[in-house]
Amino acid sequence: MDALITIADREAVLLAPYAMHSVDSRGRHYDEPSHAYRSPYQRDRDRITHCAAFRRLSRKTQVFTGEQGDYHRTRLTHTLEVASIARTMARALRLNEDLVEALALAHDIGHPPFGHAGEEVLDRCLAGQGGFNHNQQAVRIFERLESRYPNFPGLNLTCEVLDGQRYRGDKHNGAPLLEVQVVDLADSIAYDAHDADDALEMGLLTHDDLNRNRLWSEATQRVGDRFGRLDEATLRRAVVHELIDHVVSETLATVSVVLDERAPAAADEARQMGRLIAPPDELRTLQAELEQCLFDRVYRHPVIVGNREKMALALESCFERFVAQPERLPARYAAIAESDGIPRAVGDYLASLTDGGLVDLHAGCVG
Ligand code: MG
Repeated sequence: MDALITIADREAVLLAPYAMHSVDSRGRHYDEPSHAYRSPYQRDRDRITHCAAFRRLSRKTQVFTGEQGDYHRTRLTHTLEVASIARTMARALRLNEDLVEALALAHDIGHPPFGHAGEEVLDRCLAGQGGFNHNQQAVRIFERLESRYPNFPGLNLTCEVLDGQRYRGDKHNGAPLLEVQVVDLADSIAYDAHDADDALEMGLLTHDDLNRNRLWSEATQRVGDRFGRLDEATLRRAVVHELIDHVVSETLATVSVVLDERAPAAADEARQMGRLIAPPDELRTLQAELEQCLFDRVYRHPVIVGNREKMALALESCFERFVAQPERLPARYAAIAESDGIPRAVGDYLASLTDGGLVDLHAGCVG
């Protein structure tokens, strides 16, 4: 029996008409026979989790660096939280969970060391070459920089995963599938909750600060109603769980009504309808307030800013050093320098490094 027919049959039963059914995939750049028992998006997921750039996420900054303890999220654990939330939402909405998982695991893979601070430095350094954006870098990793297979460069992912990632890099780049919209939303749900949790653990914020936000204070109230008085650490974790559950549940309730009313007959039709996966307006306003609080109090905290500036200087100085001495580039990046120019090759190399890898490289550069 042709395995894809089995997968198609299975998806026909489990998925909604507006989900991206794998039988309708536009396929891969390099043709490959279908797998005996994995759907195309399951293969994408496996290719992503087995690639070097994915493993390096374990030692890349989300918001806080390794100098700030070991409680907080890394880029990898953030990615896994996003995948977990996104899969829950996809299953409830009868979307393609395999595609959502692949998209979620892919979504931050293009981040350089030191998160957005690193991204800003590389964007400035590469301003004359089209700049640097972590979403676009992910596509570059998937199409070109990863080298795992003898018969094609990159990972040869499906068009749907690559287009989803391209859309994240340029929101004017067409309309996204519902599966892409789910991952976008799961990303913000995850970082709102876990950045608050991490910042509380580090003492950069207090419960009182966060209780000024109604999303947080109402979650605290519901936890209090259910469990009574709790110690500080237990309360914090319970509120974080409650917050995620509340935003996901409210969003699913709203989106289910929207999907029933609009009733898109196919994934492409749903895509053309614009953004259908969104929290109710009032909830979105409260989320934006919470994000503003995190921005003002956490992302701009002197400890975070000071660390960011130190790392930005290290990255910039490595960039200048390698552009001036490209013969120091590892061989595979020297090949990229020949085709794409030295600055881009240096950008690719430095972006691939973990936080610690960059610190070591910088110590070597200045030593
Ligand atoms: Mg993210």
